[in-house]
Amino acid sequence: MLKERTRDVEDIDGQVASLVDSMIETMYDAPGTGLAANQVGVQRRIFVYDIGDGARAVINPQIVESEGEWTYDEGCLSIPGLSWDIVRPNAVHLIGLDLDGNEVSIEGSELEGRVFQHELDHLDGILLVERLDEDQRKQALKILRSRTLLMPEGDPDGLSDLFSR
Ligand code: ZN
Repeated sequence: MLKERTRDVEDIDGQVASLVDSMIETMYDAPGTGLAANQVGVQRRIFVYDIGDGARAVINPQIVESEGEWTYDEGCLSIPGLSWDIVRPNAVHLIGLDLDGNEVSIEGSELEGRVFQHELDHLDGILLVERLDEDQRKQALKILRSRTLLMPEGDPDGLSDLFSR
């Protein structure tokens, strides 16, 4: 399900609010910096994040502008224990809605900008392994093989993709 693009939220109702609550809990339990709804099996465009200033939720997020370049050691809650230096734009302009249906517009750079891009990838059905270069992919393959990785049910993170390339 992580490989499918998620759909927009039409009504920001009590169900969405309680989903956001449980996503925040899951994110803190992990612990992680961000979590997309499809990581908890809900195919809707919602993500939560906390880069140290408290938890926020963004509904129907879109990146409308990006600039610069920044390399960051990026991991994913869906691939525990692994991370890679990944180059992405440094700063992005994110728009969307908050839980009250108000428009949000955030210019995020460095870690904040990275979280936005990572979570947007999830919502677009793009896996972190797809952001790896050839060498990183080979290295990841080695690590995963040496762990004799037991694929979680259905391989939601597409790790088997690493083996088929
Ligand atoms: Zn992730």
